[in-house]
Amino acid sequence: MAYDHDAVVVGSGPNGLAAAITLARAGCSVLVCEANATIGGGARSGELTLSGFVHDVCSAVHPLAAGSPFFKTLPLDRFGLEWIQPNIPLAHPLDDGSAACLYRDVDLTAEQLGGDSRAYRSLMKPLARNWEKLANEFLQQILHLPRRPLALARFGIPALCPASLLSKILFKHEPARALFGGIAAHSFLPLESIASSAFGLVLGMAGHAIGWPIPRGGSQAIANALANCLRGLGGKVETNHRVENLSDLPKSRTTLLDVSVWEFLRIARGQMPPAYRHRLESFQHAPGIFKIDYALSKPIPWTAEACRRAGTIHLGGTLDEIAAGERDVARGRIPERPFTLVSQQSLFDESRAPRGRHTLWAYCHVPFDCKIDMSDCIESQIERFAPGFRDCVLARHKMSGADLEKSNLNLAGGDINGGATNLMQLIARPIFSPTPYRTPLRGVYLCSASTPPGGGVHGMCGYHAARLALREIFGKH
Ligand SMILES: Cc1cc2nc3c(=O)[nH]c(=O)nc-3n(C[C@H](O)[C@H](O)[C@H](O)COP(=O)(O)OP(=O)(O)OC[C@H]3O[C@@H](n4cnc5c(N)ncnc54)[C@H](O)[C@@H]3O)c2cc1C
Repeated sequence: MAYDHDAVVVGSGPNGLAAAITLARAGCSVLVCEANATIGGGARSGELTLSGFVHDVCSAVHPLAAGSPFFKTLPLDRFGLEWIQPNIPLAHPLDDGSAACLYRDVDLTAEQLGGDSRAYRSLMKPLARNWEKLANEFLQQILHLPRRPLALARFGIPALCPASLLSKILFKHEPARALFGGIAAHSFLPLESIASSAFGLVLGMAGHAIGWPIPRGGSQAIANALANCLRGLGGKVETNHRVENLSDLPKSRTTLLDVSVWEFLRIARGQMPPAYRHRLESFQHAPGIFKIDYALSKPIPWTAEACRRAGTIHLGGTLDEIAAGERDVARGRIPERPFTLVSQQSLFDESRAPRGRHTLWAYCHVPFDCKIDMSDCIESQIERFAPGFRDCVLARHKMSGADLEKSNLNLAGGDINGGATNLMQLIARPIFSPTPYRTPLRGVYLCSASTPPGGGVHGMCGYHAARLALREIFGKH
């Protein structure tokens, strides 16, 4: 049979581009087909509010991209990617006007936690020291033969604990408990569930080892650098090419799909063996988000001084309050005070807003496919820790789950992680197999965040899927 390309990749998100680069590096001719007019999927930026204000449409803060073992092998800086490290990676304000902070330095972080300093230091120091070894272990399929079993056990045992329990066993005081609980809430799991600590540990240790950096100019800079790297290897990217059915694709020896499980079910309808289709149909969504981007007339008047120097701020108050909000969300209820994440990129990157003006990226957790406008709840959470915030707002751009899905087919119902990240779906993502990327369709591999290691801008799903395709289709090891 004559092929148009060695490989076709559907979707130009970080995983699609990582897969395409891995294939092109091995000498394959590659075409990437992207539904949107612009590339990048979850790594895009644009003027969502007013002219001159550059907002991140999806991802904003990038410990996993800056720490990605695959991205590190690429000359992305030569293609314009520059990381900016905010003075403080993360601040978590409390109602007494103080804030617990995650600093790059473990000791500095531990010191401000008073009575919990020793516990924090002994938890985080060995993990942060071993980031390089550990990142390779957990940024792949969970079930594998570890190359660093001891380091992995030191991470894996606490990672399996429910985050509420681990915080309460390890820490006696609210600042440390709330700080850890907020980071663990990135899992979108109730903090009482098994393995909800994993995100707290991974993102916490990344904060110390890598930082929580932002890309100069916006997250689009990550996608642009990856795409330019791909073009340098001879790969092509075609935008405005929405794939409606797999059978419409140009002929290729292999196809890699940077699409969610649900988009895969749609574009491969009628072609999947029933048992595989049933398995994918039973894959569960994570809860959703409601997002607002703001154009601001001035910096946010945070009560806690540390928040004025932090890139990311977690708004949720105490550990118990965050846990209650996440429980509500998991049960399909709207929390009164939802866990809200904000990033104030323009404080550290002057290219994001006109001189003296600022941007704010904010989202809160809501039940899957929630239709409710959460603006008031988000703004009340910000006002709670920064009275006078509303007076700074020049313009708002809101995105519900449905709006997110319109902007990226992978974000159905506002699920930003390609499916829930409970223990079951971390192990069987999307199926229980030593090669979960392989599908029963000949030469077709899934490579999106619905595969291991899951959500986040790191490209590792794409890299691992492409490596498998290279082995199985092209005999390259
Ligand atoms: C609001 C928001 C905030 C986030 N914040 C962060 C953060 O701060 N840090 C972080 O690391 N991660 C963050 N994430 C998660 C991160 O963006 C995703 O996990 C990551 O982008 C997943 O990459 P991917 O390549 O698997 O899919 P995506 O980035 O979603 O890319 C998939 C691409 O495939 C295209 N596509 C889908 N279906 C088709 C089709 N049928 N035909 C053609 N093209 C198709 C889409 O248009 C899209 O461009 C956030 C996500 C969102 C939505």
